[in-house]
Amino acid sequence: MTDYRTFTTDDAMRFADEHSGLFGDHSKLSCEEFGDGNLNLVFRVINDKGTSLIVKQALPYARCVGESWPLTIERARIEAEVLLKHRKLCPDHTVEVLHYDAALAAILMEDLKDYRILRTELVAGKQFLHLAPQLATYLANTLYYTSDFALTGPNKKQQVGQFLNPELCLITEDLFFTDPYCNHERNNIHSEIRNDALQLWHDEALQAEVAQLKAGFLSQPQALLHGDVHTGSIFINDENCKLIDAEFGFYGPIGFDVGSLTGNLLLNYLGHFGLTQDTETRQRHQDYLLSQVQTLWQEFEKQFKQLMSNECREPTLQNSLYQQRFIQQVFRDTLGYAGCELIRRTVGLAHVADLDSISDGTLRGQSERKALKLGRELILQRNELAGIDQVLTLVRYLQ
Ligand code: ADP
Ligand code: MG
Ligand code: MG
Ligand code: MG
Repeated sequence: MTDYRTFTTDDAMRFADEHSGLFGDHSKLSCEEFGDGNLNLVFRVINDKGTSLIVKQALPYARCVGESWPLTIERARIEAEVLLKHRKLCPDHTVEVLHYDAALAAILMEDLKDYRILRTELVAGKQFLHLAPQLATYLANTLYYTSDFALTGPNKKQQVGQFLNPELCLITEDLFFTDPYCNHERNNIHSEIRNDALQLWHDEALQAEVAQLKAGFLSQPQALLHGDVHTGSIFINDENCKLIDAEFGFYGPIGFDVGSLTGNLLLNYLGHFGLTQDTETRQRHQDYLLSQVQTLWQEFEKQFKQLMSNECREPTLQNSLYQQRFIQQVFRDTLGYAGCELIRRTVGLAHVADLDSISDGTLRGQSERKALKLGRELILQRNELAGIDQVLTLVRYLQ
């Protein structure tokens, strides 16, 4: 049994060499640590022929804060096992894990060096038409095949137990559902929107709905979520996109994953009011984003419904009225969680470049205020909005 130690670049090279068939015995390796995430170490190991692999290691604390925020290294097991399972269910759009070591909390995986981080691309105004259809396929397949529609009762319960992930869920419970709605020291609020943030702390109607969404997150093990589907967890190129970074995975409400992604597309939409000065260019990019939001839901709904009606073997759950109600509830949850994502990325601890990289403080404040407003409307109106087209209208007419 190996003991845990924090990897140096030498350790990462040895780990990659030992567990991959990609590097021959005599290949010369080099290695750099280049992680830009909040929590973990990420190394790139490369040989003299240019072949490379990624080693990701969990630290016993959160990287962005330091040792004062201890965090279980169990998250590496969760990440590896979620990615392995999701890769079986959707091989095209899940990063390949080659090996993982539970004691070292280290994962060896494919290097997505021909891909770029989606958030960076969207902030730069890049457009990809395959984005929404492919991510809809990823979400429909990973979520359907880990749900009660596809698993037997005992198998599902065993799976729920395998992915409890209490410590990382607690981070989401705090940062996503709690902190933004009170005066918490972890919040990060720009001065331009101080008064708007203050209103959140006294908005009882909104807080009641957020409580309900949080209750769903706490006690609705519908499917094995990725748990952190923001645009920084998605790699993309001109043909394909792939998900990484599944350490927040657990059995939760399906709308959480779909809503997190929807919220991130909307954050980019709102960010471009401040990021892009040319009206025509901005309009084109924002139209693109709304069409992706629309396609994401339409394709997800279509594929999930097809899977329910073609693949479900459980007689009770084959009922088509039940299936219709189920997908409608997922739609409402999606809007609610998207709304929470808009709010927590604006006033909570973890911000996004879509808003934070707006250099003019006044313009940034305007985009942030829109994010708070839209987030609130999505949460409050989620049960009344009849379909995705009504959501797009709400977004378009937001002042
Ligand atoms: P964290 O959990 O700390 O957020 P991530 O898994 O998001 O870590 O990885 C942090 C960064 O490391 C990513 O933004 C990306 O730049 C790089 N990275 C992670 N996995 C890969 C990979 N498979 N291929 C290429 N780069 C990667
Ligand atoms: Mg990450
Ligand atoms: Mg503060
Ligand atoms: Mg992560």
